Amino acid sequence: MRPVGRFAPSPSGDLHVGNLRTAMLAWLCARSAGGGFELRVEDLDERARPGVAERQIADLAAVGVDWDGPVLRQSGRREVYRAVVAELAGRGLVYECWCSRREIAEAPRAPNSPPGSYPGVCRELSEARRRELRSSAPRPPALRLASAVREFAVADLVHGRHVGAVDDFVLLRWDGTPAYNLAVVVDDAAQGVTQVVRGDDLLSSAPRQAYLASLLGLPEVEYAHVPMVLNASRQRLAKRDGAVTLADLAAMGTGTEEAVRLLLRSVGSAADTLGEAAASFDLRRVPAAPMTWP
Ligand code: GLU
Repeated sequence: MRPVGRFAPSPSGDLHVGNLRTAMLAWLCARSAGGGFELRVEDLDERARPGVAERQIADLAAVGVDWDGPVLRQSGRREVYRAVVAELAGRGLVYECWCSRREIAEAPRAPNSPPGSYPGVCRELSEARRRELRSSAPRPPALRLASAVREFAVADLVHGRHVGAVDDFVLLRWDGTPAYNLAVVVDDAAQGVTQVVRGDDLLSSAPRQAYLASLLGLPEVEYAHVPMVLNASRQRLAKRDGAVTLADLAAMGTGTEEAVRLLLRSVGSAADTLGEAAASFDLRRVPAAPMTWP
C-alpha cells in the first residue's frame, strides 16, 4: 500500500537538527515508497509562539521536505475536536475530572500502575458529587476518556510489536484546550495519514492514540519511532545546546546543504540531497543508537 506520512511540529521554537532529522526520516519513509506526505502545525497550546511556524515551514522546505496537501493548523480546528469529544460523550466514554496535578500525584493507586497514569478518582464519583463539584469547584473540569483497557498494542517498524499503558487520559483540558492525544488522532485521520514516523520520546503515547483511533473507528496507522538526536551529555538535544538550528549553523559557516549531508550520513545514506536519498532509502540502515550532535 502506498503510505501517507506526515510531520507535525509544535511551533514552540525553531526546529533544531534533531527535529529536522526526524522530519527527513518521516519524509524518506513515505517518499521512498512513492507515498504522500502531509504537514501539520500543532499550535493548540500556550507554547505556540507567533512567527515560529512560518520559520519551521521554511526550514523544512530548505532541507528538501515537501508536502502534498495544505498545511493543517490545529488552532483552526477546535470545533472538530469538540465534536469528536461530544460523540464519545454520547457513547458514555467521557467523564469530568476535577483533580489537580498534585491530587493525581498523591492519589493512592494500584501497584504496577504505570508512572504518571491517572488513577481513576473522578471516574467513581456519584452523580450527586458531580453536581456539587460543577457548582463549587474552583475551575471547570477536564474531560477524560473512560478507557476500557489498561494496555494496547501497536505495530512499530523500529520497535516491533509494542504494548504500552493506556489510562483514562485527558481529551479536553479544563480550559477547553483539546489534548495532544486527541488532536493527533483526529488529524492523522483527517489528513489520510497511514504512517507515523516521529521521535521515540513519543513511543509511550502510541498505545493511547491507537486505542482512541480504534474507538473512533479510524484506520490503524503504521508507526516508526526513531532514535532522537542527543547532546554531548547524552541528553535530548535542545536549543540551549548551541548551534543547533539552520540559522545558528549558517552563522557559524555551515550551510544548509552541508547540514543535510551530515544528517543523511547519520541515517545511513550516502546521498547529497534528500531527493537523491529517497531513491535508495532503507529504514533498516538507520542506526538504532541515537545520533549525538555535534
Ligand atoms: N507536535 C509533536 C511534537 O512536536 C509531535 C506530534 C507527533 O508527531 O505525533 O513533539
